Amino acid sequence: MKDLHTACILVDQEEIFTDVSKDIRLILENCLKEKLPSLNDIERLFLTNEKEKRAVLKIADFLRKKVNGDNVSFVINRNINFTNVCYMGCKFCGFAKRSDEAGAEWISLDQVVKRAKEAWRRGATEVCIQGGLHPKLPGKYYRELLISLKKELPELHIHAFSPFEIWYGAKKMKLSYSDFLQDLKECGLGSMPGTAAEILDKQIRQQLTRNKLSTDQWVEIIKTAHNLGIPSTATIMYGHIDAPRHWAIHLDTIRQIQTETGGFTEFVPLSFVHYDSPLFLENPAFVRPGASENEVDLMHAVSRIAFHGLIDNVQVSWTKLGAERARNLLSMGVNDLGGTLMNESISRSAGSNNGQEITEGEMVKIIRSASKIPVRRNTLYKTLKTYNTLEVISGDEPLVSREGRDPLSFLH
Ligand code: SF4
Repeated sequence: MKDLHTACILVDQEEIFTDVSKDIRLILENCLKEKLPSLNDIERLFLTNEKEKRAVLKIADFLRKKVNGDNVSFVINRNINFTNVCYMGCKFCGFAKRSDEAGAEWISLDQVVKRAKEAWRRGATEVCIQGGLHPKLPGKYYRELLISLKKELPELHIHAFSPFEIWYGAKKMKLSYSDFLQDLKECGLGSMPGTAAEILDKQIRQQLTRNKLSTDQWVEIIKTAHNLGIPSTATIMYGHIDAPRHWAIHLDTIRQIQTETGGFTEFVPLSFVHYDSPLFLENPAFVRPGASENEVDLMHAVSRIAFHGLIDNVQVSWTKLGAERARNLLSMGVNDLGGTLMNESISRSAGSNNGQEITEGEMVKIIRSASKIPVRRNTLYKTLKTYNTLEVISGDEPLVSREGRDPLSFLH
């Protein structure tokens, strides 16, 4: 089988590398020999011209297929944001509100449990829970939320709390990250979103978040979680005041952590949503309005290449890019469509218009439209179901009315 793969690549190489510069060819040929690109190589891959880009996309697609076959996965989950009140003042954030602002909310634990139960009845295996850093939030809130959920839904996987929330909760409880996380794990925390990473570069973080959660703190919290047996995702938020050098540093930092801990389940590029973000609104001349199409393509493809052998799953965020773009990226290194979400609100608050949910049946249709095999997974990428070609999924109306909008209109 390996020979066959190698043979295919040898046949294709002449076509793939026609008119491609020597340095890009060398980097990509090394990838085919399982040699990871260096930090400088990663930056170079982000700076390709049109012909070189085509080669990068093809190699990314080859590596995707080599690792995942034609399977494309998703998870049935629900997003629950328990509060949008936050005083951290991250410049890029369109989600946070002050407590006296219209639309500010902090739902009760009973409400959180009610939403999770509704999700469970609709087939969810996971709830994804994050919230703002509400000034009145007691440090014990995080453990109480987990206990309340696990009491009612012991089998539900709880994917919760960004490293920023861990930093906040540990500070409030006057505990080390390790003690705080260990307690959360014992209360039922299954895994963590690797959000709040933005770009792991001090200079950029200074401008985005005033470096309130520094790169070193993010790395320390994530490594501590992994070492305690709490896996996490890894993310990057790109397309604002950043550049390919920063992306390369970020990817390389994630690789170093993964080499040490093995705790990342997937990598998720998150394109900056600018519409309601103070960062963009206050400086439209200096801040990019999200990543360009070219940058989105390259971010997913280069991630596949840079993480080959380290992180098997590259996920596209349909909430940021929409279902059609997400589908197209399935041939550029991506093998996962993320969650059905049911109630997405973070991207929507920032002005994104890609809806709140993609149902199970719609996920299957999107994946089939890319000539791939739909697979439902759990949070930790265990296959729960492979959909056979003839199976029709029925009876899953979206939880929240779409008022006539159809996220799959591009398929009709
Ligand atoms: S990104 Fe998170 S921590 Fe920063 S202001 Fe928004 S809600 Fe608060």
